[in-house]
Amino acid sequence: MYDRYSSPTVVQKYGGTSLGDIERIQYVAKRIYDTYCSGTKNLIVVVSAMAGETSRLVELVAEVSTRTRPRIVDLAVSAGEQVSVALLSAAIENLGVKAEPLLGFQLGVLTNDSYERARIRKIDIDKIRATWSQEGIPVIAGFQGVTEDGNITTLGRGGSDTSAVAIAAAAEADFCEINTDVDGFYSADPRVVPEATILPSMDFEVALEMASLGSKVLHARSVELAAKFDIPLIVRNTFKENSSQRTIVMSHSESEILEAPVVSGVSAVRDIAKIAVSGSGDHSKLISAIFEKINQHSINVDIIVHDQMGSDDRTRFGFTVEESDLEEVMGLMESLNSNDDFSQLSISSESNLAKVSVVGLGMKNSHGVAYKAFDVLTASNIDIKMISTSEIRISCVVHNKDCDQALNQLHNVFIG
Ligand code: ADP
Ligand code: ASP
Ligand code: MG
Repeated sequence: MYDRYSSPTVVQKYGGTSLGDIERIQYVAKRIYDTYCSGTKNLIVVVSAMAGETSRLVELVAEVSTRTRPRIVDLAVSAGEQVSVALLSAAIENLGVKAEPLLGFQLGVLTNDSYERARIRKIDIDKIRATWSQEGIPVIAGFQGVTEDGNITTLGRGGSDTSAVAIAAAAEADFCEINTDVDGFYSADPRVVPEATILPSMDFEVALEMASLGSKVLHARSVELAAKFDIPLIVRNTFKENSSQRTIVMSHSESEILEAPVVSGVSAVRDIAKIAVSGSGDHSKLISAIFEKINQHSINVDIIVHDQMGSDDRTRFGFTVEESDLEEVMGLMESLNSNDDFSQLSISSESNLAKVSVVGLGMKNSHGVAYKAFDVLTASNIDIKMISTSEIRISCVVHNKDCDQALNQLHNVFIG
């Protein structure tokens, strides 16, 4: 007889490529079965949809109508996880262990009603405990939740990492494994920067910054939650069972942080757009009118550059949004022209842009990083369109076509 109470509590999350076909699903089932049989009885499995499936569903919805209500979008795009949960559960049971497939609403993943980017409010783990006590493995659909009114929501693309960590927090797990198609969290996307190296250990702060700045190996919100509940994340390759390569993301001590490299990695977000507005009149009114409009339409604004009054008494204002929001934002900006408070607004935009960033805890105590970054980009004839910085990062907006080269150059100069 096993002793359930001495068993660690472990969450294993499997991403889309790990479940891309039947062979892979059977491989993953065997790994879960082996983990369970070797003593990890308090095991929780969280899955994403099979590779490409969520994108296929997103496209189907867009083909039907470009104005589908977000609640209906979520109903369609959450369906991919239902299939993978069922197939993986069947494959586990085929090996001889009971699996309990659970969709978000069946488990009780309660979210707010911000469809397509919902936030988890509460998770009920009764069904997980009940499954364990019946000697079974809960297999849970990531990415999806349910509102108080019973409507299905999704957490944003890549959100099954966040489901896994939120479930790990609710179940007080010892750690959460993120099983994916690369060997760990690298200093850059290894598909873009061949020289990228695995970061064996990362502080939550660096992982959060890199994930927020485009390193999609972890959903940013998952790192935020892991840091909040102090749950170590292990990023590893699903298909390399005995590999020692992996990344552990956890909180580091003061001294480790002091010794942290100046730059740990580089990341990029592609397909962003820049909007420039300039006008005379009441500067503060103009800025608050712009943000009021954008806020009313729940559009995410990223970099903001404000140049107050040149010699010509005009306010110049620039900001970036996701390219998919550009048309809507331009419509909102044009509508400001009809406001009598602002005369002769000049509004322009540029799309096909990318934000490349250099991230490192050591930047807090180091200088010259910005200079080095600008220097290497300029030497490569890469036009820098905007700059933004924080204590541990420097970001530059460049053209999409220059993005890969910029990442490689920055990686080369800072990491080697
Ligand atoms: P999953 O389907 O397992 O959730 P994702 O496609 O969401 O996988 O994330 C894994 C991908 O993230 C990798 O294939 C890689 O191309 C990309 N990636 C981007 N930045 C990084 C990075 N810094 N380290 C590792 N992978 C990265
Ligand atoms: N299946 C969802 C997506 O493709 C969630 C995830 O993969 O994390 O975005
Ligand atoms: Mg992912």
